[in-house]
Amino acid sequence: MITETAKNLGVIGYPIAHSLSPRMQGAAIAASGADCAYIAMPVAPEALAAAVAGLRCLGFAGFNVTIPHKVAILPLLDALDESARAIGAVNTVSLEAGRLRGYNTDGSGFVAALQRRGFAVEGCRALLLGAGGAARAVLWGLAEAGARSLAIGARVAGKARALAASLALRVEVEALDWRDASFVSLLGQADLLINATPLGMSPHVDAMPPVHWEAVRPETFVCDLIYNPAQTRFLRAAKERGCAVMNGEGMLVEQGAAAFEIWTGCKAPAEAMYQALRQGLKALRGAGER
Ligand code: NAP
Repeated sequence: MITETAKNLGVIGYPIAHSLSPRMQGAAIAASGADCAYIAMPVAPEALAAAVAGLRCLGFAGFNVTIPHKVAILPLLDALDESARAIGAVNTVSLEAGRLRGYNTDGSGFVAALQRRGFAVEGCRALLLGAGGAARAVLWGLAEAGARSLAIGARVAGKARALAASLALRVEVEALDWRDASFVSLLGQADLLINATPLGMSPHVDAMPPVHWEAVRPETFVCDLIYNPAQTRFLRAAKERGCAVMNGEGMLVEQGAAAFEIWTGCKAPAEAMYQALRQGLKALRGAGER
């Protein structure tokens, strides 16, 4: 039940109508009994500063931040958590003692999803495909969780190198063009292989990053950050190679669960959030979003 002292929460983005966060956070609020309300708020890029000032005035306890505001919001906040500072993007804001503090729970969310699947991150050798915002967050999360080595392959090696150089991580990041011969040898050494590009995302479900699957060991754990479709062509190829696989649902739920914990101080009911996400994805796919 929402009472007169309920915490106001929500998500800002543009567009925002297809965000699955209201379903997931709504399910978390219902399952935990937290006295909170969570809504989707469309905020156009030119209205971001006014919207953040408005949320501050309204005393919102916190909010999620999604595309296209994850970087643009940085100068509008009073403080940044180490995660947001290192990744250079914010997906969660919390009002703490009258100050807006930014966090990034994407990287730790990805690691939490791996741990839920029983994958040991500490000491692993990880290889990422793609050098965009999601790759940044995942690299940070893996480094913080004790990965032994990190490498990125991308279609433009310069972008991969720039990403590696801009992240001050505990582990050095090797950056390569994914057409290089040395990239194939890295494929054979990886314990963890991650697609952090949109290749294969609905509606372009036939696309996939260029991977020489014969070089990948069947023991390699293969992840796709994409969650629509549930099984990309990349994950199907990995399964045919004999690899265990994980799609992007876990990262999406766990980043939300971490945000819920920041706002409420209570353990998030992750199972209820997973169920809500799957129902939401079913509805999206049913509505022709494949
Ligand atoms: P992004 O910042 O746009 O970066 C995408 C990366 O993929 C860039 O390196 C880009 O290379 C590369 N790329 C894009 N199109 C390509 C193509 N046709 N061929 C080769 N490379 C291509 O995107 P992002 O925010 O990092 O997101 C990446 C993926 O992660 C998306 O599918 C997104 O939905 C998913 N994601 C999932 C979660 C989750 O919670 N599960 C969270 C965040 C993101 P260039 O720079 O050369 O274009």
